[in-house]
This record gives sequence, structure tokens and C-alpha cells, in this order.
Amino acid sequence: MAFVITSPCKEELAGECVEVCPVDCIEKGEGMFFIDPDICIDCGACEAVCPVEAIYFEDEVPAEEEEYILINRQYFENK
Ligand code: SF4
Repeated sequence: MAFVITSPCKEELAGECVEVCPVDCIEKGEGMFFIDPDICIDCGACEAVCPVEAIYFEDEVPAEEEEYILINRQYFENK
């Protein structure tokens, strides 16, 4: 399990999440930020500071945003 960044990040790219993540597992990729699910410790700090509510716990990602669970994972697998 991990937190997942979804589509609202694409218009915002705010980056507050990167500053608060205690394990440095959020990276800026093509057009948005991504969370490495293998490193995320589920602390929720990023979710609390995201100004566009783009970040969800994996189990709570809205149905229309579920593809981002895979998109975040693939970003780190393809690096
Ligand atoms: Fe980083 Fe915590 Fe957010 Fe996971 S939940 S990405 S560890 S700030």
C-alpha cells in the first residue's frame, strides 16, 4: 500500500508534497509528481499539504482516478 498522486497534480505541480515527505519518495516526472510505492511509509504528510487534493491513500483513490495507481508504480519501474 502507498499514497498515490492523481490527475489534479497535472494542472498544479505545487510540490509541497516533496518538501514534507520524510523518506524522499516523491519525484517530479513527465507533467506531474509521482510517489514510489515501494518506499512510501503511508504517513499521509503529502496528502495533508496538497492544495488540489490530488493525493489519496491507495484504497481510497476515486474510481475515475484508479489508473494512477499503476501510473505511479510504472514511473519507478521504468526508471
Ligand atoms: Fe511520502 Fe508520507 Fe506521502 Fe508516502 S504518505 S509519499 S511517505 S509524505
